[in-house]
Amino acid sequence: MRFDLVLADGRVLDGCGNPWFWGDVAIQGGRIAEVAPAGTLQGQETIDVGGRFVAPGFIDVHTHSDLSILVNRRAESAVRQGVTTHIIGNCGMSPAPVDEDHFDEMRNFWGRISDQQEVTWRWRTFDQYLKTLQRGGLAINVASLAGHAALRMAVMGLDARDPTPSELDRMEELLTEAMEAGAFGLSTGLVYPPGCFAGTDEIIALGQVVSRYHGLYASHIRGERETILEAVAEAIRIGREAGVPVQISHNAPKFGAPCDATANLRLVEEARARGQDVTVDNDVHTDLGPPLTGGLPQYIQERPVAEISALLQNPATRSQIREEIVLDRWPAFGPAGLLKHGQWHRITILHAPKSQDVVGQTIETIARKRGQDPFDVYFDLIIENGHDAEAIFDYIDEANIRILLQHPAVMICSDGQALALYGFLNDPPPYSPCSYGEFPGVLARYVRDEPVLTLEGAIRKVTSFPAQRFGLMDRGVLRPGAWADIVVFDLERIRDRATNLYPHRYPEGIDYVLVNGVLVVEGERHTGALPGKVLRHQIKTSEASETSEV
Ligand SMILES: [Zn+2]
Repeated sequence: MRFDLVLADGRVLDGCGNPWFWGDVAIQGGRIAEVAPAGTLQGQETIDVGGRFVAPGFIDVHTHSDLSILVNRRAESAVRQGVTTHIIGNCGMSPAPVDEDHFDEMRNFWGRISDQQEVTWRWRTFDQYLKTLQRGGLAINVASLAGHAALRMAVMGLDARDPTPSELDRMEELLTEAMEAGAFGLSTGLVYPPGCFAGTDEIIALGQVVSRYHGLYASHIRGERETILEAVAEAIRIGREAGVPVQISHNAPKFGAPCDATANLRLVEEARARGQDVTVDNDVHTDLGPPLTGGLPQYIQERPVAEISALLQNPATRSQIREEIVLDRWPAFGPAGLLKHGQWHRITILHAPKSQDVVGQTIETIARKRGQDPFDVYFDLIIENGHDAEAIFDYIDEANIRILLQHPAVMICSDGQALALYGFLNDPPPYSPCSYGEFPGVLARYVRDEPVLTLEGAIRKVTSFPAQRFGLMDRGVLRPGAWADIVVFDLERIRDRATNLYPHRYPEGIDYVLVNGVLVVEGERHTGALPGKVLRHQIKTSEASETSEV
């Protein structure tokens, strides 16, 4: 028997955490046909991998590639890391469903990328969006959650109130439609507008819809600093009362948290001990590069820039906004803790097109030079630059990242998006270490250079474990019958070359990447192939498999 392709003489990592062995992996018709001792399999084509590691392609459970992958279907920054599947629709943000009456809010919500021609916004339903994704081809597989913010916006815009009973009914209908179309579950972003305006009961009601379809609940919880333990407890309660598995997203405590990560993980362990299926993901970066406007109170963030500027220019509303940031009534996203606690030396300006002289400086330094209060500097930069003012917020203690990495119920995600070193996605170059370097970075730093994780353990956390979590039972393992999503890497050479300096670069040491049996990355080259599939969640029946393609 000669197979389509054989990856010969590799150190095979099965994805389940077992020690590697010398083996050949044969591919036929997009799937793995055989895994056998090295030197035993013959292919029409053979790639001698010369002792490099052969592993299942990485599954990134927490990304925001929903629109960026339409702009760059080659998914450059993802696939070059060895990533073969992205879960999108996270943190409550999915670009569908869309309601005509609230279309403008949805477009604004996604910012500048909304205006790109590839982002047609011709879809309205979740199904139409998934079809748009598939139609032009994709380099990697994509599976989507239905975002709570999208559901809420479609029904009640950005209103800061509870839904009426009929509004909640409508959200449930839209979610049912999304689950029927193949959403893998519901995501929330309970620190962002409009998710932060939703009460626990609203989420439980929606979770009950997800439960009927055996989906999962993934949450950017209601505060990851002062309120982290209450927020983890809320996520667990939602899972329990709705009857759905829970995935707590990027769960590192952020600056201002009263405890280290062992405390939030203990709540997860206790829930699991009671028989509740709760798991966690986390990325390994200590900083983030959002717009400065993300630090404003949520009911202001989504307003037109002119309105935000007017509020900040008026001394009375300016001081009121300042008080609200410190009060943190609706717990704001992690980086805002640096404002609340006056950690101005940890905020470094990344982009400010109208204030070029301050790029690369901290708010503390700028304040000293200008003889101004740091809050005033922060607000003035927003007035000058609108949403284009972005900063690097250094807000996570690396010790917490290590604690999370080593916990068996924690998988690894990027919290990034598919980007590219050219075109709109690099203009201006966004904050990106997570998007360009997450997975090679973990293997280089926390496996090879410092033994935080074993190689097999790290691979499990980015392959079979996330596959199991999302019901992708025929991916994430090197076993006959599984889809041939495969990465070949050189552990000696592997490194992410993604820093906060420009230009960004793709990683090194990822030598081959196959998606559904097709070669997409060969050394430094993207082959241009688009073999990725839009995966749709289905309830298992005797005929249908757990997932299927469009
Ligand atoms: Zn998030």
